[in-house]
Amino acid sequence: MFKESVNLQKLQVLKKRLKVDHPKYMDLENEIRMKTAGEYGEYSINYYLSLIPELKYDFQIVRGLRLPFKNSYFQIDTLLLFPSFFLILEVKHLTGTLHFDPNFHQLLQTKNIILPNNESIDETKSIPDPILQVKRQFNQLKDWFDDQGYTDYRGDSLVVLTNTNAIVKAISDNKKVQDFVVRSPGLSFRVEKLIRKHENDDYLYWEELKVISKQLKSSNVVRSNNDLEEFNVQVSDIHPGVFCTSCEVLLMVRVNGIWKCIVCNHVSKDAHVKTIDEYFLLFGNEISSRDCMWFLQLNSTYIARSILKSMKLNEVGNTFSKRYHKK
Ligand SMILES: [Zn+2]
Repeated sequence: MFKESVNLQKLQVLKKRLKVDHPKYMDLENEIRMKTAGEYGEYSINYYLSLIPELKYDFQIVRGLRLPFKNSYFQIDTLLLFPSFFLILEVKHLTGTLHFDPNFHQLLQTKNIILPNNESIDETKSIPDPILQVKRQFNQLKDWFDDQGYTDYRGDSLVVLTNTNAIVKAISDNKKVQDFVVRSPGLSFRVEKLIRKHENDDYLYWEELKVISKQLKSSNVVRSNNDLEEFNVQVSDIHPGVFCTSCEVLLMVRVNGIWKCIVCNHVSKDAHVKTIDEYFLLFGNEISSRDCMWFLQLNSTYIARSILKSMKLNEVGNTFSKRYHKK
């Protein structure tokens, strides 16, 4: 089943709690839309990767790589390591009609959009050329392999389109588009073709592949993402409080040890659990009773402390500076 990454969950919570008039609200919405499509695309190729006959062709899969390159980093979504070659997959979950134009390094996406008056029009926008993107990733990864001493290790790269409703067209260099772009149902056939293409190349032993896979993972630099900073969000831009678990409208108030929605009268014993989880996603895995008082909008530290205690979190520090860590 498709499950959002922690990064995406963070952005969702930020959006849920960010004031709608915040200048970066639209950017945040766009980022969430792109990330969701990206993660869904990655998830959906798993099935097609499983069709590659593994018993016949052993390979390693490495996902979500971010490797240092010169003074920056480069990212690879999915990398397959076969004994005779490596294969970079750039997964795109795009809708509409996709006009690939390699000569001008662009991809034009045309989508039918419905206007407020219910008329529909076609809208075309230019998006970064994924063929250029995988070629760049290929060169960067090849350099990385050279640096590690695997100079004869060959490779290829593909753009995988996972949305089966998208229509694909080539405006220029039809052959290049055919060489680099594949739709997910054709992925396993394309991979088998590449295996044949590389069958006379030098090959690595299975143990060496495992070593490379480990090296890649240990060189991986996880993006330290502070979403609050990235979207220029101040703590004062965040709505604190317990969202109603039924109508999802702020706020629930605590009455006699029970949360009660002031809009729909729904009651809950443990609505704070989800709210504290959201605090951890936004601000990191540590909370004090004072933070808790603010975020749950309580008027007593005593209640805040007893709620945190009831959640069986890890406690650090003495009574006055006690902090609670997510387990
Ligand atoms: Zn409610």
